[in-house]
Amino acid sequence: MVAQLIDGKGIGQTIKAEIAEEVKELVKQGCKPGLAVILVGDDPASATYVKNKEKATIAAGMMSRLIRLPKETTQEELLSHVRQLNEDDDIHGILVQLPLPKHLNEDEVIRTITPDKDVDGFHPVNVGKMVIGQPTYLSCTPYGIIELLERTNVEIAGRHAVVIGRSNIVGKPMGQLLLQRDATVTYCHSRTPNLAEMTKQADILVVAVGRAKMIDASYVKEGAVVIDVGMNRDENGKLCGDVDFDSVKEVSSAITPVPGGVGPMTITMLLKNTVHSARRACGIEQ
Ligand code: NDP
Repeated sequence: MVAQLIDGKGIGQTIKAEIAEEVKELVKQGCKPGLAVILVGDDPASATYVKNKEKATIAAGMMSRLIRLPKETTQEELLSHVRQLNEDDDIHGILVQLPLPKHLNEDEVIRTITPDKDVDGFHPVNVGKMVIGQPTYLSCTPYGIIELLERTNVEIAGRHAVVIGRSNIVGKPMGQLLLQRDATVTYCHSRTPNLAEMTKQADILVVAVGRAKMIDASYVKEGAVVIDVGMNRDENGKLCGDVDFDSVKEVSSAITPVPGGVGPMTITMLLKNTVHSARRACGIEQ
């Protein structure tokens, strides 16, 4: 079996075009969605992510505001920026690029963003709403993965989904969103014994481990759908996933590449969440 390629880049572009159309209509009605991104310090990977977010926001016809702060910024200074953005009517989404320098308290920063503008979906209130199935901002990476599955007609209900990874930003919300769509969900993590025994039961396998090419064909059931969240550098410095693409594409029925799979969807869903927030703030229902 040779796997179908799940084209996140193409699907992301389609959704971005839909968003741009929506934004045009909103702007005509005097409502321009605005996203503010705070970047603390000069981590090169974070700077690249932020630049890509800014580019995508502007390309969608939205307003982008980047606030760059030096790495010595204090917790109180950072919180004060967040509070100002909470009060700013031109801003509908606030994103603080993580990770923050070690001396800063991420949890407190996330809790300070008003849940109404928490387009990353990390605020405990929004996480709680997501878990009990109330409308809220969904965490962008798992939300993007659900879109990928739905837009490629992958059946979720009744399937066994195995998620490797239990971080607050990817693994945990991923399992919850799959559960809400009636999958039977198993979480695996670094303390899971016999990982391959678990993953070989997956109809849908989501890998969010952060270890280059760790999951090869020996972990995958014939015909499974494999979603690779990983963004790592291989021994030659080339971007690669957590999945050994060349071996897994031979056994899976569908697979996301890296790059061009999950990555482009994350930014796309951030734009979607921001537009949703703007609609709410402007009182323009869909
Ligand atoms: P974390 O490091 O926060 O979490 C990794 C998870 O993998 C943990 O739950 C950990 O278990 C588990 N794990 C680590 N080693 C093993 C192992 N040997 N066997 C089984 N489980 C293991 O990472 P993130 O969730 O933030 O990110 C995961 C990957 O996804 C990274 O490569 C990251 O760069 C990428 N990423 C990509 C995004 C995109 O847009 N494409 C967005 C966000 C992340 P334990 O909890 O026990 O420690």
